[in-house]
Amino acid sequence: MARWDVIVIGAGPGGAAAARAASAGGLRVLVVEAGRWPRRKACGGVLSADALGQAEERFGPTPLHALADPPILRQTRVHLSGTESYTAPLSWPAIRVERKAFDAHLIGHAGADLRARTRVLNFEQTEFGVDLELEAGVLEAKVVVVAAGAGSTLAPVRGVRRSLAFASRVNYRATGQVEGREWLLLDTPEDGLAAIDPERDGILSIVTMVKDPRRWKQSQAQAIRIAQSLGLGIEVEQEAEFGWLARGGPWLGIGKVLVVGDAAGLGLALGFGLESALESGEAAGRAAVEAIQAGAELQAAYKECLRPLLRRRQAERRLHSMLRLRLAGLDGQQDLGEALSASFTKRGALGMRLSQTIQALDVEEAPPKGFRVGPQE
Ligand SMILES: Cc1cc2nc3c(=O)[nH]c(=O)nc-3n(C[C@H](O)[C@H](O)[C@H](O)COP(=O)(O)OP(=O)(O)OC[C@H]3O[C@@H](n4cnc5c(N)ncnc54)[C@H](O)[C@@H]3O)c2cc1C
Repeated sequence: MARWDVIVIGAGPGGAAAARAASAGGLRVLVVEAGRWPRRKACGGVLSADALGQAEERFGPTPLHALADPPILRQTRVHLSGTESYTAPLSWPAIRVERKAFDAHLIGHAGADLRARTRVLNFEQTEFGVDLELEAGVLEAKVVVVAAGAGSTLAPVRGVRRSLAFASRVNYRATGQVEGREWLLLDTPEDGLAAIDPERDGILSIVTMVKDPRRWKQSQAQAIRIAQSLGLGIEVEQEAEFGWLARGGPWLGIGKVLVVGDAAGLGLALGFGLESALESGEAAGRAAVEAIQAGAELQAAYKECLRPLLRRRQAERRLHSMLRLRLAGLDGQQDLGEALSASFTKRGALGMRLSQTIQALDVEEAPPKGFRVGPQE
């Protein structure tokens, strides 16, 4: 049986970051990926310039072809059912990457072996470490990192259910262009959230996030209606991609198994999935080094390395519950008080809806039968 120090399941940014940190610490690392490689991944590809800078320190400069077109977003705007809007210039520019090329770049610089088209079916903890069951054969590792994304059945470990939201990303040929990312709060919290992103010349992409996947078309139709009210002409649909977004958790693992990125439910509100995957992957790789080379307790070492990210999540949750408490029961005329930022004071209905929409996406609920989106090849 082939033995490795670390086997990483999934070659997305979480898996690449774990593999790089572990191999930089001198460990022998294998990444197994179910899809053909490089694979497509439904994603808006937005991350902060800061996070991209940190990725570049570890993986080297991002190749030009791995940047989306246009590559920089300078502002974001939130619209409530097309009637009210709030513009926020970004104090930091957001960068957009093209996931297929970006993920291939990360894995290419992770210092690990990659085995594509290799699906892990199951794993079992043993005295030595962990046995991984593949379609053909078994692999053995001292530590396993599950970086298998939101839709994976491998995570969370031990059957805990994550809260999943269904995302659709549709590219349209369009007349008119947006300057930054436009967030759209749709008619009801259950219709979810949509984002319009500029794409290469004459193309716009609309991403919708909705709890019940059967509502995705309805949400796209509403988003198109709002886009039209913003003066955009939406013409022919070009291509569509689908995926799950994982929220809630976090489920960090058990024994010799660590869980990172979307598999752990570590995406923060309104995006940050890429950043959380990169950061938690790095933390898992470092924890594996400390455990294998210095005898540290694996789970404790992972939590310690993950502390800054976990602290940010707590702050985010506090902000949401504060918003809910403050906004519930307002009659629209009341002042929201000093506790809320000036923007939310001015935009009470918008803040209320944003909070409700995120709550609706966070409800823990299994997706209806027949809706499975697996790795995209
Ligand atoms: C429509 C959409 C838009 C999004 N937009 C943004 C955005 O603008 N900004 C942002 O930060 N985030 C965004 N996200 C979220 C972001 O894509 C994820 O947070 C991020 O990809 C998580 O990285 P990961 O490494 O955890 O998992 P993934 O990137 O999902 O990678 C998991 C990998 O594991 C593989 N795998 C799964 N099961 C197995 C198995 N059993 N064996 C072997 N391999 C397996 C899969 O094939 C896949 O390649 C978006 C998501 C969606 C769906």
